[in-house]
Amino acid sequence: MSNNNIRVRFAPSPTGPLHIGGVRTALYNYLFARKNGGKCILRVEDTDQTRFVPGAEAYIQESFEWCGITFDESVSKGGPFGPYKQSERKDIYKQYADQLFASGHAYLAFDTPEELTAVRQAFEAEKKTFTYNAEERKKLRNSLTLAESEVKELLNNNTPFVVRFKMPEDETIVMNDLIRDRVEVSTKVLDDKILFKSDGMPTYHLANVVDDHLMEISHVIRGEEWLPSLPLHVMLYKAFGWQSPEFAHLPLLLKPDGNGKLSKRDGDRLGFPVFPQQWTDPKTSEVSRGYREDGYFPDAFINMLALLGWNPGDDRELFNMEELTEAFSIERIGKSGSKFDLEKAKWFNHQYLIKRSNESLAELLLPIAVEKGVLVEPEQLAEAVGLVKERATFVTDLWDQLDFFFVRPESFDAKAVKKRWKAASYDQMTELKNLLADLDDFSAEQTESATKAWIEEQEYGMGAVMNAFRLLIVGALKGPHLFDIIALIGQEETLERLDNGLHELGRKEVQK
Ligand code: GLU
Repeated sequence: MSNNNIRVRFAPSPTGPLHIGGVRTALYNYLFARKNGGKCILRVEDTDQTRFVPGAEAYIQESFEWCGITFDESVSKGGPFGPYKQSERKDIYKQYADQLFASGHAYLAFDTPEELTAVRQAFEAEKKTFTYNAEERKKLRNSLTLAESEVKELLNNNTPFVVRFKMPEDETIVMNDLIRDRVEVSTKVLDDKILFKSDGMPTYHLANVVDDHLMEISHVIRGEEWLPSLPLHVMLYKAFGWQSPEFAHLPLLLKPDGNGKLSKRDGDRLGFPVFPQQWTDPKTSEVSRGYREDGYFPDAFINMLALLGWNPGDDRELFNMEELTEAFSIERIGKSGSKFDLEKAKWFNHQYLIKRSNESLAELLLPIAVEKGVLVEPEQLAEAVGLVKERATFVTDLWDQLDFFFVRPESFDAKAVKKRWKAASYDQMTELKNLLADLDDFSAEQTESATKAWIEEQEYGMGAVMNAFRLLIVGALKGPHLFDIIALIGQEETLERLDNGLHELGRKEVQK
């Protein structure tokens, strides 16, 4: 379905790395656009030059590339509503500030920072907080209180000023939010926000509303932290005489215990990333971990994020991007915050790991093997992967689960030796070695049936024999089905490991 009227945007400010909450907002925008045949736009909101952080914009772009969220229009891609970076649209905003001033919805404020500090301090002395609102503006130096001639003179003298929105004194603003339904607020509790700064740049509010209008945005889907800005935005649309888009404010991503917004500090404290990729702070050189570097698959990461706040209406949990697109709807976004759950994040990664083919996992493992200096055949590696992947969460775990396929044990787990290498083990393993040496067919089925028949015939303890056997082959009591292991490493290697282990462990002294 193609719907040219649906246009959504993700509008990050490049002030640092993108929090996973931001990635989730972008994801919901992306899914909503895809689902409805609309367009998803990436707009860079960089009008606050004091908060600009080098590298942040590139980081944001790379993160989206990694996790598979694409945009129809953006700084790098261009599009019919460009430029898509607000600092490149600087000249556009002034006329809109002028328009609001001319229509009486905004005014010029000449108060110097020193004057405002003095007022603030006077309020604080009386244990009150100052807000530049309908009441206070009457006492301050602005185009509402000064004579027209005075204003003209100030302007002629190039006196710095800001443009403020003139909030009506006593009105109820009714807003509609697709997630929260109807929200009402009285203008009495609102202040006269700055729209245009003395440095010639618009503030977030003006630039955001003007751009959403000019870019024909139909739905604003953004984080709940922007809900307090909604009354002003709604009033701005009204003041301009523009139709406002629909709004959906997404509930927060919460700390694992549910107490407040998920922050980088929680991640550091509890051992998980809150950023999609690793980030190095350009000022402090502090490195923050990322999902990509921690070994998460992008599709697992996306699946996990999608379900932190949205649900499909049934128990299903595994969705790839296409399935998410198909199933997504704003109606199924929850009203309350979602707790981040590390175990669940790992569970998703495990699911995506076991879904991947053994061959593709082996490809990812090969560099690790090379790094460890171990020579492996890709086919053999893939086979070993198939035997252990059920036990792994990350590709790096896989290596720990299967290194013994390729590396003969150099040492034997002391605890296991103490417990499982028994007085009879040496002779039993020697017999087993001879038995296995005589087999022509070394398939798992054959070695298993021959070994078990021998154990039964000799009336040995199954557990005792198998534990001692595993100890010699693996070096520890871990790993998948033992007969699968020896089938993969082959007869020669099996016999050598038995020989080597018998030599290393020797005959256990019987304690008197
Ligand atoms: N630039 C704002 C941010 O950094 C955008 C908020 C919005 O989507 O309106 O999140």
